[in-house]
Amino acid sequence: MDTATLVLATMRRRGIAGLPRNYELVYEALNASNPALTRHFEAMGPNPSQDELDALGKKVFPHHHRTGIVEGAHDKISGELEGMLRLLKQEQSSMESYSKLLGEAYNRISSKSTASAEILNSVIGVLSNATGDTMEKGKVVVEHMVERAREMELVKLELDQYKRIANTDPLTRLSNRRAFDEMLSNIYNDHRSAMYYSLIVADIDHFKKFNDTYGHPVGDRVLGVVAAVMKSVLRKDVFVSRTGGEEFAVVLQGTSLETTLEIAERLRNSVEATPLKNQKTGVNYGPITLSLGVCMASDAESAEELYNNADVALYTAKHSGRNRSQLYKPELNRGFEKDWAIYRP
Ligand code: GH3
Ligand code: MG
Ligand code: MG
Repeated sequence: MDTATLVLATMRRRGIAGLPRNYELVYEALNASNPALTRHFEAMGPNPSQDELDALGKKVFPHHHRTGIVEGAHDKISGELEGMLRLLKQEQSSMESYSKLLGEAYNRISSKSTASAEILNSVIGVLSNATGDTMEKGKVVVEHMVERAREMELVKLELDQYKRIANTDPLTRLSNRRAFDEMLSNIYNDHRSAMYYSLIVADIDHFKKFNDTYGHPVGDRVLGVVAAVMKSVLRKDVFVSRTGGEEFAVVLQGTSLETTLEIAERLRNSVEATPLKNQKTGVNYGPITLSLGVCMASDAESAEELYNNADVALYTAKHSGRNRSQLYKPELNRGFEKDWAIYRP
């Protein structure tokens, strides 16, 4: 049985809902990529609650949790920084108008030569001292605030960088699963905008065999090459991510069904046509092929359904011979209706 079938069968048997994060958890548990996860998962017993699954996910994928915190801090600091800058500007302008007012009073008084020149002179003395003092203090406050603002700006830049790292897959430099989940759920925040999106999921064919033949490090390099080829045939602003081991996803915006299918085929052809010959040893690792599943966002009601549908199409592409792309159609569910029925939200 291939991993996808095994994951689905396990999820069904143990009554686990078909959410992307559950799929990832079960996939990694069965893949034995993390022995602690596999152990905990096996110890869990039948029908684990969603809370139990999420707690396990939090434990074994601590970065999911941490990045949430960082994102919160990021938003808070950005907000505070903006507030501080606003305050600083207000402070600065009030200080300026205060000084200006005092300066004007000083000019008016000193231009009048009246009998009470002595009194006026003492008032002027007080006023000019106050002016000098205020301006001096104001300058210190402004300098202080400017320095704080500069520090906050640096923190903000660091956090921006951290956020980028949290959303990036280190091996391929593509967006990672976390960024993908966020992207996909945003599509359905505004149901009208969902009309204009489409999803392509791609999975390398027989990659286990490739690793077994050439070794994991070569497999890793090939993942990098596949990612680079995919990026090179897509427009710069297209969202491309590595959603799992040898699985990728592309989210397109504003492309018709025909164009989406053309792009899926372009991805497939480009990867297949990429030479993978080691110049030093002469070993030819290629060709590498992809199977792809395509679903228009308008053919689903939610992010989960969109992903499931594209996955059903991918599964169909795999089972009809691999190295092809397949558009999702509701009839495709028929083959494993029972499997999917319980996962549908
Ligand atoms: P299929 O055509 O059905 O997709 O077959 P497959 O062998 O590609 O699929 P399967 O899901 O059985 O195995 C996926 C393999 O991908 C398992 C693992 O060896 C490999 N893989 C997953 N992540 C990585 C990775 O980060 N680096 C490398 N080198 N290999 C990986
Ligand atoms: Mg796979
Ligand atoms: Mg594969």
